[in-house]
Formats: sequence, C-alpha cells, structure tokens
Amino acid sequence: MLKKVLIANRGEIAVRIVRACAELGIRSVAIYTEPDRYGLHVKRADEAYSLGEDPLAGYLDPARIVSLALETGCDAIHPGYGFLSENDRIAQLCEQRGLAFVGPKSSVILKMGDKTQARDSMRAAGVPVTPGSEGNLENQDEALQLADEIGYPVMLKATSGGGGRGIRRCDTPEELKNQYPRVISEATKAFGSAEVFLEKCIVNPRHIEVQVLADSQGNAIHLFERDCSIQRRNQKLIEIAPSPQLTPEQRQYIGGLAVKAAEAVGYENAGTVEFLLSGNEVYFMEMNTRVQVEHTITEAITGIDIVQEQLRIASGLPLSYRQEDVSFRGYALQFRINAEDPKNDFLPSFGRITHYYAPGGPGVRVDTAIYTGYEIPPYYDSMCLKLVVWALTWDEVIARGKRALDDMRLHGITTTASYYQQILEHPDFRAGRFNTSFVPDHPELLNYSTKRHPSAVALAIAATIAAHTGW
Ligand code: ADP
Ligand code: ADP
Ligand code: MG
Repeated sequence: MLKKVLIANRGEIAVRIVRACAELGIRSVAIYTEPDRYGLHVKRADEAYSLGEDPLAGYLDPARIVSLALETGCDAIHPGYGFLSENDRIAQLCEQRGLAFVGPKSSVILKMGDKTQARDSMRAAGVPVTPGSEGNLENQDEALQLADEIGYPVMLKATSGGGGRGIRRCDTPEELKNQYPRVISEATKAFGSAEVFLEKCIVNPRHIEVQVLADSQGNAIHLFERDCSIQRRNQKLIEIAPSPQLTPEQRQYIGGLAVKAAEAVGYENAGTVEFLLSGNEVYFMEMNTRVQVEHTITEAITGIDIVQEQLRIASGLPLSYRQEDVSFRGYALQFRINAEDPKNDFLPSFGRITHYYAPGGPGVRVDTAIYTGYEIPPYYDSMCLKLVVWALTWDEVIARGKRALDDMRLHGITTTASYYQQILEHPDFRAGRFNTSFVPDHPELLNYSTKRHPSAVALAIAATIAAHTGW
C-alpha cells in the first residue's frame, strides 16, 4: 500500500482524498496557493506546502508538483478532478520519476482526453458513438458539408473540452457559421487548443454515465450508472444513482459497454464512461479519466469507497471486488450547491459564509470545504458543497432530499439550494421522467420566494408585534 500521497487539488475533493488516505493509514500532503491559506484541505492534511501568491499557477504546474512530491517523500500524486487530473504531462512525469499517479497511464489520458481520438478508439472497439466527425474539422466549409450529411441540429464541440464548456448547438447553417469562430476562440482560451469537431445533436437525450474501476492486472468492472440529465448549459446540477429511467436490460447493456470501452484502451484506475440515451439508442459521448464530482452517489448505492479503491489500484493491488460481488440498493441524489444566484442568471455569489449549519440525520452525507467564517475565493469554481442523500425508494429519496436541503443553513452568500427544492416538487421529476432539457424547459421553477419560510417569518413578526403592543 502507498505510504504518503501528495494531493494536487483544493476544496472538497482534496478533503475527500485526505479522508480516504487517513482511513487507509496513508499520510497526506496538501498544496495550496495563498488565497487558499485558510482552506480546509490545508488544515486537514498531515502536511501542507504553499505554492505561491498566484491563485492558480501553483495548482497547474506539473514539474513543480512532482518535485515537491519527491522532496517530501511521497510515493504518489492524487490529482482529484479539474486542474491537472486529465493532464498527461503530470502522469508522464510521475512515470519517469518513479511516482505512482492515481489515474491511468499518460498515454491513455492523452488518448481519451482528446474527444476525437476517444471516438475513434470506441468505434474500433465496437462501442456505438454519436454520429459525426471522424477527426477534427479543418475549416468551416468542412463543418457545413458534414452538418448537411448528418442533418441538423448538430453540436459543435471543443476536442479538449470539459466542464460543459466549448459546446454549442447549431440548428441551421447560419448558426453553424456564427458559432464556428466562437467555439474555436472559447476552446483556445479555456483549453489551449483550437481543435473542434462536430456531432449529431441527439434531441432531448438522457445523460447516463457508468462508473468503472480497472486494476493493473487487467481486471475491469463497473459500479452501475448515474443519471446526470438535470443540467444547465451542459453542466450537471443534480445527479442520481441508479437512473430511475432504465430497464434492467438497458442497465446491463450499458454497464457492459462501459467495461468494453475501458478494456479496449487498457484503462487503469477509476474512470467514467459517459453516454447519451435516446429511446433505446445508446451513444458513447466521452470518457473522463479521473474521479468524478458525483462519485459519491455510486458510493451511496454500492457501499464501495471509490477513492480508497483508486489508492489501492495505484498501489498495484488487485480490485477488492469482482463484478458479481457488486450490487446496489436504494437511490441516491447529489445536489451541487453552487455559490450562484439562480434568479440572476446563476451569477456567481462569492463572499464570506456568515453562518453554516450542516444538514444531518439518516441517509445524509455532506462533502464540502466550507465552514462558518470561511470566505469563498473568487478564483475557483462556484461549487461550495455537495449534499448527498440516500433512501431505499425513489419517493423516499426525494422526501429526504427536500428535508436535508431544508435542514441546511448557509448564510452570507446566495446558493442554488432553494432552486433544487423547486425541481424536487415538479411532477415530471417526481415521476422519474426527465431529459437534458428539463431545466431550460421549466423556467417557471425560478419563480420561488427567497424568504425561507414565509409563513414562519410572518408568525414571528406577528409575535414580536404582539409582545410590544401587549396583545
Ligand atoms: P464531472 O465530469 O466530474 O461531473 P465537471 O464536468 O463538473 O465534473 O467538472 C469538474 C471540474 O473539472 C470543474 O471545475 C470543471 O471546470 C473542471 N474540468 C472538467 N473537465 C475539464 C477540462 N477538460 N479542462 C479543464 N477543466 C476541466
Ligand atoms: P464535457 O466534456 O464538457 O462534460 P460532454 O461531451 O460530456 O462535455 O457533454 C456535456 C453535455 O452536453 C452532455 O451531458 C449533454 O447534455 C450535452 N451534449 C453533448 N453532446 C451532445 C449531443 N451530441 N447531443 C445532445 N447533447 C449533447
Ligand atoms: Mg462530460
């Protein structure tokens, strides 16, 4: 087993990895940049080192991080998600300098991080892929010609994209002409690559993804699926495991496809294979070669600690489970509580947390790095807490989600929590019927009252008046 791991990340995922290390008896080393000096990951890790004033540079410097890991006697680096998690360079440096990288081989990261190469590998392996480009687009004319062949609407995508950015739907040739330079400029700015490709737009699909685990001995298994169809602008808001909209046959088929995908590229460690589902059609979309934000809900329904499995695999140990040992029970929901104002076009709402009371009780898990008095820095993403609830049935998990969101108190910033309450009330959501258009199709769900308990507040005011007037 590994002895000491450097965590090349911040926020809740860094804290999550510290916890997994602690339970396995592994020492943890945190890194931070100055705006994160008071970050919870710095407080919780066994050791912590500053990587300078710049908010981001330190977290994005493979050479410096690898050197620090070696200087501090680490035998591995865990990259978390975001930052360097899908950067083949840091994985390669680890390979060259005798460190374990908690993820797949650098060559696999390179292949799967490039969405067109990933599509090619999947086609070759017999995994169905969304119809579209065979490689990257050379120019706008090629895009227009291909779109004519596959038919509108189409999706124009950044080849190195991620986090829901660098994707545009185009319904007409005019839109495609307009969007082409925009996506190229967005891709260049956000991902440092101008490469783009085109896919058929699957109208109103469900986003279904499968968690896989693969060890260095060539064993690969899946831990069932997550339904991430509740999205805004291609970014996930609420995730569900298992999907309430799959038949057992579909579940088995998609799980099998994901394992086939992992085996085809010699995958190692935890990964997620994302698919789009339309009716009975399943299309491979992309593979994320890292731990995913929503791994928590798979942990909730299977009981398997995915981050601990990652560390075991990186130690060279075989998987702790065979496919037939893995089962799931009940349903889990994850709410991404973002520091954003839904009523103001989801504008970020950074600032000081004046009061935070964690929700609790049966079936409730919170992964976060915030605390009362913490100031959310404006340099990083706006997700400030993951609330995960589990229950035996679909109806119960919705009731538990509502209750846990209500339990939580988070003052000083505006968050997406109240908006999620509205989604949980919607009859289609409650019936387990939704696709990726659910959020844009229901703008009326944004018309909620910002007073937490209007009737309770009214009563309190009445009581105060009564006390002062002697009613
Ligand atoms: P998940 O795929 O785990 O659901 P997200 O897509 O929400 O996660 O991304 C998690 C974090 O990683 C976000 O902060 C996102 O901006 C970042 N991220 C994801 N993919 C990339 C990428 N290719 N390049 C840069 N950042 C990325
Ligand atoms: P990212 O790397 O940013 O996560 P993905 O390729 O996984 O990008 O796509 C993110 C989301 O965009 C999907 O979950 C889906 O909602 C939407 N999307 C992507 N490709 C298509 C498509 N071909 N048709 C319809 N929706 C799509
Ligand atoms: Mg994706």
